[in-house]
Amino acid sequence: MERKNCWKEYSEKRLEKLEDYAKEYMHFLNHAKTERECCDTVVNMVEKEGFEDLAKLIKEQKKLKEGDKVYATWMNKAVILMQIGKKPMEQGMNMIVSHIDSPRLDVKPDPLYEKEGVAYLDTHYYGGIKKYQWVTIPLAIHGVVIKKDGTTIEVCLGEDKDEPVVFISDLLPHISQEQMEKTADKLFSGEALDIVIGNRPVKKEEEDKEPVKTKVLELLQEYYDMEEEDFLSAELEIVPAGKAREAGLDRSMIMAYGQDDKVCAYAAVHALLHAKDMIKTSVVMLADKEEIGSYGATGMTSRFFENMIAEVMHLCGEESELAFRRAMSSSNLLSADVSSVYDPMFEEAFEKKNAAFLGGGLVFNKVTGSRGKSGANDANAEYLAALRAILDEEEVIYQFAEYGRIDLGGSGTVSHILAEYAMNVVDCGTAVMNMHAPYEVTSKADAYETMRGYKAFFEH
Ligand code: MN
Ligand code: MN
Repeated sequence: MERKNCWKEYSEKRLEKLEDYAKEYMHFLNHAKTERECCDTVVNMVEKEGFEDLAKLIKEQKKLKEGDKVYATWMNKAVILMQIGKKPMEQGMNMIVSHIDSPRLDVKPDPLYEKEGVAYLDTHYYGGIKKYQWVTIPLAIHGVVIKKDGTTIEVCLGEDKDEPVVFISDLLPHISQEQMEKTADKLFSGEALDIVIGNRPVKKEEEDKEPVKTKVLELLQEYYDMEEEDFLSAELEIVPAGKAREAGLDRSMIMAYGQDDKVCAYAAVHALLHAKDMIKTSVVMLADKEEIGSYGATGMTSRFFENMIAEVMHLCGEESELAFRRAMSSSNLLSADVSSVYDPMFEEAFEKKNAAFLGGGLVFNKVTGSRGKSGANDANAEYLAALRAILDEEEVIYQFAEYGRIDLGGSGTVSHILAEYAMNVVDCGTAVMNMHAPYEVTSKADAYETMRGYKAFFEH
């Protein structure tokens, strides 16, 4: 089996395009740390390229034809993009689905408290994290506070170099003998991941048992016009502060928060915007809640996505329930999610022949799941053969991999949810080092090759 390395294969011209793509992708990451920000950023991107709001088209009952481009959002956290192809939708669509939520710490409904002169925000972690990785690093607060009158207050604190950050403390090594005896999973409990948000009390003359908390509340009032009770209807996410960075002396990698799964989400959107001559209707779905099981009105199990496809079919004059069922079952889907990557520092966790390598290109995971493939979507060999043919024709570099050594754990994606419609589905995305850590790492070449692969898929 030949394994390619993108860097060895690329022409000067392709390297130039790769750097342009990496720049655009990093810019996107800086404006899309949360699912809400990602949703807004994608809508802004596609509106510039002539995509129209489906909600408006439905109201006007405007007929759609080949080449028309539409988008729809749901609760500001999920997006679907569609470009109408030459063939009727009943004959199937080319779909790429990815997710735009990432592991993080969510602020609890009653979060603010003071302990011995330090004010904290209580958090509840979201997604599968190694808790010890999230302490002692600069953190930012992103999200919204919705007031009772419906006013939305947008919060984004800690990203500008002049703005303060927040953090979680750890014990100094000098007196950590007892702490260091704990196993890594016990080092920090979920309840211990509370954010330090203040240390300055209100003035002495004011009689107050919690003077630091009072000061924080005063500032929240001043900055965001919010009361303590407004935390009840807020969605505040604590994420690593700072921008995406190039990594390595050779600048071959990107280090940034939330690349699972924005690296695939961005690739899918970019591919759709740049693909030419699409015969079939092309669809990009960006779902929320993947990291916690894909439930909820904005998760992949929500009817939102199929509702929007049904609406578009209606506007295309394809009315029947049967046509919809045929459209779904004859579609081809790439479940665009990140894959693990072989880490030479942890070689015992991998079976090298069947691992993905940094710089090895777009990754296919034929199976996911754990304990004997349990819970896996297993892609059909026929489908994989057809995809290999397309990617080889377009000179896209790809690799096939499993997540790690058998029985070390496993993973799940949204692929099984769409496979329920009986369509062809395979997991296919970018390899990520430090996955689910505050700062995840990808190879620029893999991010670029992922986009090239998705584009080839849409064009065939
Ligand atoms: Mn993912
Ligand atoms: Mn994940």
